[in-house]
Amino acid sequence: MIELVTEFSEIAPTPSPAEVAALLAERQGLIRANRFLADRVEALMNVHHAAILIIEPETGIILDANDAAVRRYAHGRAELLTRHISEINTLSKSEIAERIRQAVAARRHHFEFSHRLRDGSVQEVDVYSGPILYNGSVALISFIHDATRRKSLERKLKAMASTDSLTGCCNRRRFLTILHHEFTRARRSRTPLTFAMLDLDHFKAVNDTFGHPAGDSVLKALAKNCTKLIRDSDCFGRLGGEEFGVILPATAIQAAIPVLTRIRESAQALHLVLPQGSVGATLSIGVSGVEEADPNESAMLKRADTALYAAKANGRNRLEIA
Ligand code: GH3
Ligand code: MG
Ligand code: MG
Repeated sequence: MIELVTEFSEIAPTPSPAEVAALLAERQGLIRANRFLADRVEALMNVHHAAILIIEPETGIILDANDAAVRRYAHGRAELLTRHISEINTLSKSEIAERIRQAVAARRHHFEFSHRLRDGSVQEVDVYSGPILYNGSVALISFIHDATRRKSLERKLKAMASTDSLTGCCNRRRFLTILHHEFTRARRSRTPLTFAMLDLDHFKAVNDTFGHPAGDSVLKALAKNCTKLIRDSDCFGRLGGEEFGVILPATAIQAAIPVLTRIRESAQALHLVLPQGSVGATLSIGVSGVEEADPNESAMLKRADTALYAAKANGRNRLEIA
């Protein structure tokens, strides 16, 4: 509860009746003003749909809370007011203390936290915090909003922005970002890295013969099979159209060949039974690795592309090393 300030500075001894009357009137007025203010603050706290906590910055103790906060975090007001913010916020005590310092100094006012609720579940929250004067001392006031929906939408958007909508594997943008990252890491740590470019053979003919939806089904099935044949640390992505890429970190070309051969063979073995007939397509693969003179990953990519071109020229359904 918000306390009322009722203490006054000492008054001169033996005041005259008029002075006493004036002081009493002033005192009554101050009490009324204080009560008015306290009532208004309390009303404001409780009319707010967000949970509000008032926290002692030095200790993290919860000094006050609105009804919404009581309902979210505790079985009653008395219980909540015995608690420490670290029992609610999932960060460590030292991390919480740092965030409180930032908010009290008004260096930062928006935080994304995970909060433990009354039933023990954890919820992602947006917290807007700042300093206020509370009973004559600086306290932290935090307005807390449920961020579950927004965070879930953000995650969906992020996944959509990096996923190929047809096959569900990495899209070109995400794939090239990973390739850049892995190339940089391989150079720094002087570990091998293999990159392969895959292109379906005569895929135009597949579309022309069986129709575009049948071609789509082949692309989907192929991506699914390839993803199963690589390690979690590898990456399979769609570079565009009927062209895919594989990144094999910490893998020299010779060690990558059996994996890439299995990928090529799985494409060859793929025969989707569709109403139009049995549909499939073979793969040509161009392989390259990191080289000392490579200024960036584009050089490696270009070599794989040249090797892929050679695989096509040499009869398709085969693998060529740059
Ligand atoms: P090559 O062996 O020389 O690679 O022959 P290709 O027919 O595969 O090569 P080309 O580049 O001439 O044609 C690629 C074909 O891939 C044509 C295009 O319609 C098809 N394709 C690209 N993207 C998709 C897609 O998302 N779905 C389907 N069904 N087909 C696609
Ligand atoms: Mg092709
Ligand atoms: Mg192509």
